[in-house]
Amino acid sequence: MFIKILEYKIFCGTKVNLLKLINEANKINIISGNPEVLYMGMYNEKLKALYIDSKSVIIPDGVGTVIASKILNTPVKEKIAGIEVMEEIIKNCEAEGKGIYLVGAQEEVLKECIINLIIKYPKLKILGSKNGYFDLNNCQELIEDIEEKKPFAIFVAMGCPRQEIFISKFFETLPCKVFMGVGGSFDVFAGKVKRAPKWMINLGLEWLYRVANEPFRIKRLIYIPKFLMRVVISKYFNKRK
Ligand code: UDP
Repeated sequence: MFIKILEYKIFCGTKVNLLKLINEANKINIISGNPEVLYMGMYNEKLKALYIDSKSVIIPDGVGTVIASKILNTPVKEKIAGIEVMEEIIKNCEAEGKGIYLVGAQEEVLKECIINLIIKYPKLKILGSKNGYFDLNNCQELIEDIEEKKPFAIFVAMGCPRQEIFISKFFETLPCKVFMGVGGSFDVFAGKVKRAPKWMINLGLEWLYRVANEPFRIKRLIYIPKFLMRVVISKYFNKRK
């Protein structure tokens, strides 16, 4: 259920397959593998180590990753949006009485996110939370709180690479089963940022919607061609081997 893109194993099944895999795992780190995230991993040893860890699963979250899979003639079944996986995990946690922990975003956003989650999932156990503006090398109080509460899932919304650095530091020691870096998802649950309309998502144009609404993101689009160029080069070299 995996394909190889550059040095990464990318999940190529459906979202339903993924949820089954998450359920069956002892401990799992879900990485939303868009071109920016994957490209950064090529130049950052810590990130790369996390991405290629056997307990990490990279999902194709981004039209650039889907295109890369097609370039390599190993198309993924579908683009899987991290935020949708997060919501499915939350639904399961609510149904099964399992707790979650939220780390990331600005304090106000985090509060709104929690209020909206509780409105939508009234039985959801949110065992704790912390905004995303703290010193990663000096957060003992937070770590002790997570250790004490033992959430089933921890969602970390601090953007890449900060959220991945946090997860790689504490993945082995924290008593959580599911770890997931979720970027700007708390902003979406808080209602601060809207997801693109369905038709744009279906056409693979979510990136365009996000740039139109948050123009500062335009700089980050450069990772798509950079990443795809690396994929094309890798395909060419692998053919010659
Ligand atoms: N963020 C944070 N701490 C930081 C920097 C950013 O918690 O030091 C949060 C920020 O408030 C926002 C999220 O990280 O909620 C930004 O994620 P981004 O939109 O960059 O992620 P993407 O969805 O693009 O992966």
